[in-house]
Amino acid sequence: MKAALNTVVAMHYTLTDDSGEVLDSSTGRDPLAYLHGHSNIIPGLEQALEGKEAGYKSKVTVAPGEGYGEKNPEAVFEAPREHFPPEMTLAVGERVYADGPNGRISFVIVELTDTGAVLDANHPLAGKTLHFDVEIIEVRAATTEELEHGHVHGPGGHDH
Ligand code: ZN
Repeated sequence: MKAALNTVVAMHYTLTDDSGEVLDSSTGRDPLAYLHGHSNIIPGLEQALEGKEAGYKSKVTVAPGEGYGEKNPEAVFEAPREHFPPEMTLAVGERVYADGPNGRISFVIVELTDTGAVLDANHPLAGKTLHFDVEIIEVRAATTEELEHGHVHGPGGHDH
């Protein structure tokens, strides 16, 4: 079976950045399973797997525009100390959350300043060219329930 709309694709992958550093990998875990054609994974990778079958192995390079988007400089800003919970210890790399008009927003502290901290709301992989080593393990038809939920159930997918 070929990867197409409403199929479930199970794959092993290793994701590296431009410097070759491994950012994520399914090695040692179940293959990642996703519902093809439903934007469950980034567009650049989904397009590269379209029409491919079990056993397909390839390197796929995804530009930021087809991945997690470009970094938005306006999403990096300084927040004063009083905007954080008083008991919180501010540290670079710490993740903080706030409720925005469209749900919860996640920020990471990128710098400490004299009066607070600089926050970055960009996705950690925004602005990065992504290099995937992928191997398709299985392609199967999605179940009715999976199509209703818009995601995969079972190993490598949602467990609920
Ligand atoms: Zn579900």
